[in-house]
Amino acid sequence: MLPIERRQQILLWLEQEAYLRISEISKRLEVSEMTIYRDIKPLLDQQKVSKTSNGIRLVPRQQMLSTCCSYCHKVSHSRLSVQLIKSNQLVEQTCCAHCALLRYQDCREDVLQIICRDFLTDTTISAQIACFLLHTDINLHCCQPQALPFESVHQAQQFQKGFGGVIYDFEGAIVAIQTEMTGSACCHKET
Ligand SMILES: [Zn+2]
Ligand SMILES: [Zn+2]
Repeated sequence: MLPIERRQQILLWLEQEAYLRISEISKRLEVSEMTIYRDIKPLLDQQKVSKTSNGIRLVPRQQMLSTCCSYCHKVSHSRLSVQLIKSNQLVEQTCCAHCALLRYQDCREDVLQIICRDFLTDTTISAQIACFLLHTDINLHCCQPQALPFESVHQAQQFQKGFGGVIYDFEGAIVAIQTEMTGSACCHKET
């Protein structure tokens, strides 16, 4: 068996068993523990697996994605960030509502829920029932056109009185952002 085949086999086992001792892997593959350590080095470097006291375990995929926007790949850790809960149990994070709406458009049928924060109250809300304020005078320096989520239309209207902008519902905001992005290079999406 080649090292690459052993690595594939180790990953397969880890997917089923979550955790493996080095001694156990060496016994199953009939190679020395030294060889196993050499085999798993690239997996550790790529953060696919992590070390435990005497073995290795699989790194959950959402842990690897959590710091970077799944749409534009910018680092995202601010309160603007949005989580997309997908049907395969994965959680994706985007840097802001703009990217969440566009990302949702790409993989609609796989998304169970979208969690964002109300721009005023900072409470967690479901994006599908939120409303979004576009084109306000306030610039948050994330992606353009920016979309600010609000739980209540009433509060969005009050905010609108001060900062301007246009209020959309969830589906309306997707269409509005897409329309505006056509032919422009204002998004950071890497192709
Ligand atoms: Zn983004
Ligand atoms: Zn953004």
